[in-house]
Amino acid sequence: MSLLSLPISTLGVPRIGPRRELKTALEAYWSGQSDAKALLETAAALRVANWARQHAQGVSVIPSNDFSLYDHVLDTSVMVGAIPRAYGWTGGPVPLDTYFAMARGSQGAACAHGAAEDTHGVPALEMTKWFDTNYHYMVPEFTKDQTFTLASRKPVEEFNEAKALGYKTRPVLLGPVTFLKLGKSKDLSLNPLSLLDSLLPVYGDILRQLHEAGAEWVQIDEPCLVLDLDEPTREALRQTYCRFADALPGLKIMLTSYFGGLGDNLETALTLPVAGLHLDLVRAPDQLDAVIAKAPRRLVLSLGVINGRNVWRAPLSGIVTWLEPVLARIGAERIELAPSCSLLHVPIDLELETDLAPDLKDWLAFSVQKMAELAVLGQALARGRACVSDQLAASDLAAKRRATSTSVHDKAVAARLAAITPESAKRSHAFAQRAPAQRAALGLPPFPTTTIGSFPQTAAVRQARSAHAKGTLSDADYEAFLRQETEAAIRWQEDIGLDVLVHGEFERNDMVQYFGERLAGFAFTRHGWVQSYGSRYVRPPILFGDVSRPQPMTVSWWRYAQSLTAKPVKGMVTGPVTILTWSFVRDDVPRAVACRQIALAIGDEVRDLEAAGAQMIQIDEAALREGLPLRKAEWGAYLDWAIGCFRLCASGLADVTQIHTHMCYSEFNDIIAAIGAMDADVISIETSRSKMELLDAFRLYKYPNEIGPGVYDIHSPRVPEVGEMVDLLRLARQRLADDQIWVNPDCGLKTRHWDEVRPALVNMVAAARALRAVL
Ligand code: GLN
Ligand code: ZN
Repeated sequence: MSLLSLPISTLGVPRIGPRRELKTALEAYWSGQSDAKALLETAAALRVANWARQHAQGVSVIPSNDFSLYDHVLDTSVMVGAIPRAYGWTGGPVPLDTYFAMARGSQGAACAHGAAEDTHGVPALEMTKWFDTNYHYMVPEFTKDQTFTLASRKPVEEFNEAKALGYKTRPVLLGPVTFLKLGKSKDLSLNPLSLLDSLLPVYGDILRQLHEAGAEWVQIDEPCLVLDLDEPTREALRQTYCRFADALPGLKIMLTSYFGGLGDNLETALTLPVAGLHLDLVRAPDQLDAVIAKAPRRLVLSLGVINGRNVWRAPLSGIVTWLEPVLARIGAERIELAPSCSLLHVPIDLELETDLAPDLKDWLAFSVQKMAELAVLGQALARGRACVSDQLAASDLAAKRRATSTSVHDKAVAARLAAITPESAKRSHAFAQRAPAQRAALGLPPFPTTTIGSFPQTAAVRQARSAHAKGTLSDADYEAFLRQETEAAIRWQEDIGLDVLVHGEFERNDMVQYFGERLAGFAFTRHGWVQSYGSRYVRPPILFGDVSRPQPMTVSWWRYAQSLTAKPVKGMVTGPVTILTWSFVRDDVPRAVACRQIALAIGDEVRDLEAAGAQMIQIDEAALREGLPLRKAEWGAYLDWAIGCFRLCASGLADVTQIHTHMCYSEFNDIIAAIGAMDADVISIETSRSKMELLDAFRLYKYPNEIGPGVYDIHSPRVPEVGEMVDLLRLARQRLADDQIWVNPDCGLKTRHWDEVRPALVNMVAAARALRAVL
């Protein structure tokens, strides 16, 4: 057989453009500087470039409808007409401004197509994380009387657009079962899955139209297949795909699962009447054998062997060795090669990076490089290794260099890690003994007031930072500016009577990047943007080597701030789990090991802060909860090492040193034991919107340490009244002992304006004083 390559697919590619063209176009449109036509032209050009780029790299199964102006889940809501009444859509084509109102909220009058009488505007749909990625989707919203209708033919339009350019694409749809499961209803008695029957005809319609337009295959994403599923959901999957097969016997469906293994859903997946099944073989390589053994004879397997969630070059020879026997077993006609998941989650092109160390660059692969890797694998497997021997040799050599590089492997770090004992993760005494020592040393009033760390990042702060980065503001001038900001913040906190002060974090660009830039083992890209949500992109640090801390990172800022006041100033560091979770992580050591290294480095900082005189040190773990694995069975192991790493940061401290931590969310029921095991002296959490109900988890657990339940919703510009905060604190007092309670906002204040923050914090201090008065 003279096959040139196995079929290569990508499952989807980044939408944002190599130079963030989509962001620029969106923002110009939103600000009124450009019109819809200009935006849609940019979007179309990005799609053309994406198809061309894939074609050039040897991708033979090219997707369409993977593009989105904002979010593909939102696109799906719009496609099926699941548009909440508040957005004022009454049928017909969905206007662009209705789409963006769902994405970002509307300003009332600005929503030209919305309900005319509503001048207050409509809030955006809720947003939440897409599985365990840092991509956020707009949560579909359903009502009890929900009906569906085909409101957008985007998948067909984009298929035709590609066809006109000569690309026969495989359109991508978010599967109906995952779509419903991701959705929500304000009416809690509604189970979204009960809407399946009315949803399926709309999917049937779009599938038929795609088929008629010439699509031979359609990719349907059902990543819910890697979650713990109940029987009704499995039944919903069976019903769905049987209905599709009956209605459109000629259309081939590539059903994708990703972000993990099928696990106990494997039997279900294999009984679905689909033509192909995609497997994430990076997260779950072991499932391949079972799938091959049990799969129906003609099922095409899309083997997700290149990591779509990380930036490392793959060990190509090893993959060929692994797949050769698979090929022999099931035959080339049943195999497609793919990334583990859509390439949406990696940066676009490594070639744009001109500042990376050459050895590091040689170990990396972004979306374009990953396509090329797939092409090499496809050729090696179809025609033998000899035809790509140079590429395989280069890949082997890079892997060998990386495995032995001294920039990656630091013997001193390994030795420190080996010396960790169970004692290293313990404070010298239990909280019951530490608390009285801390109270005596600190002498704080009841219901002490504090903030979470950052103060507004004003235009002046951002301008100074960017001028410093560009070299137009000298180190000395920048430092002087930051000192001035810090001093003003300290003075103001004293003036309004806060009890525990912060320095304000003016010197920090971002709570992870700031530390990454100061730790050995991290690198940063210039253009490595990844979509976080809509037009917001992030450039995650790349954790490539053993981590250590060459010198103190925050001590001088803390020392300066403390020198200005007699009140205690909290030391402020980001915790190891959060640094790990918001970075691209090494694939050559387990996450737990990488995290432990970061914990040792952050612990060094914490101990240096103590030595400098800090009585309180806050270790932020904003991302602890989002790091939870998708399957509950894996939670225990994760929490064990994650909590262990947090405790490692606080090891060796005196009893009087008070460790604070902060978490940005409010769901603690299922992890409360782990939170207890962290044993922070004080934890601040986000509670202002939930009427303190989540404190029930702490009460039921009999959580003994101190807690600062947020009383000021920092996500809104609104200034809370004293009375509201007093009421919230009353609710807290019904659930906690008085000497456990701190008074603070929900989170840091960096995104707010001073004119909101000033009155809000003045009110917060007044609320605490009102409470003290009645004690
Ligand atoms: N100290 C950080 C701040 O105030 C904490 C932010 C966070 O956890 N998201 O900005
Ligand atoms: Zn927070």
